[in-house]
Amino acid sequence: MNETVLYEVRDSIAFITLNRPEVHNAQNPELLEVLDQCWTSAAQDESVKVILLQANGRNFSAGHDLAVPEDRKSDVFANFDYKNRGVAGQYLWEQSHYFEYSRRWRNNPKPSIAAVQGACIAAGLMLAWPCDLIIAADNAWFSDPTVVMGIAGVEYHGHTWELGPRKAKQMLFTADKVSAAEAHRLGMVNEVVPLEELAAFSAALAGRIAERDLFSLVMAKRVVNQTVDIMGQPAALQSGFDLHEMGHAQCIARSAGETAVLTRDVAELRKKSG
Ligand code: ZN
Repeated sequence: MNETVLYEVRDSIAFITLNRPEVHNAQNPELLEVLDQCWTSAAQDESVKVILLQANGRNFSAGHDLAVPEDRKSDVFANFDYKNRGVAGQYLWEQSHYFEYSRRWRNNPKPSIAAVQGACIAAGLMLAWPCDLIIAADNAWFSDPTVVMGIAGVEYHGHTWELGPRKAKQMLFTADKVSAAEAHRLGMVNEVVPLEELAAFSAALAGRIAERDLFSLVMAKRVVNQTVDIMGQPAALQSGFDLHEMGHAQCIARSAGETAVLTRDVAELRKKSG
């Protein structure tokens, strides 16, 4: 497997580790594709009972990697070629590459845990939210600054489900960070642990879950997910995605098809948020 994501199965646990610490685990198309393959491998491997998603480096994930290497503009990054691909191209790309990934991970039959340290920005949330449990280091923080970029939140609208309507609105309106402690208070995070204990705590929790019968775990996950599904989450997520794409369409219309506006703003924002 590609080294942007590490994959190892040990003691019935699939350890999936984001491995682009030099860019704060920003997600390029390759990373997302390999990550998705890891989730699929874990689902298909009968020896795996629990999936533990973690990240190397100081930060969990800085979101989508919007840097466009010159030699890649014609292929995987074609989605950013607004001028030629337009709104439809953007919509279809993000549906299949961003939104469907998160939905697929959320619907993976096996229990999953995200271990989050440092920054978890924008699309970083789309890696953590689909997991069944989230363990945060005490230095973790979560933010979605996409309203600043003219878009109503990331592609996967977990905000309202995870934080409740009022806090979700505050997060979106202000782009302020939500601390690990606040996320814990609101129920978005299961546990907060000291940074130096994050990996061991998460692995131990995964180990305890792995002691259970796999079929029982799969059914336990399903009963909770189906309850949320009956509450309308799948349709709400699709609606959230469509509104997200409306934001892109507005950006495209405003910039008359120029890609630079959005990518430059994101780069500026990254600089500010360190
Ligand atoms: Zn988008």
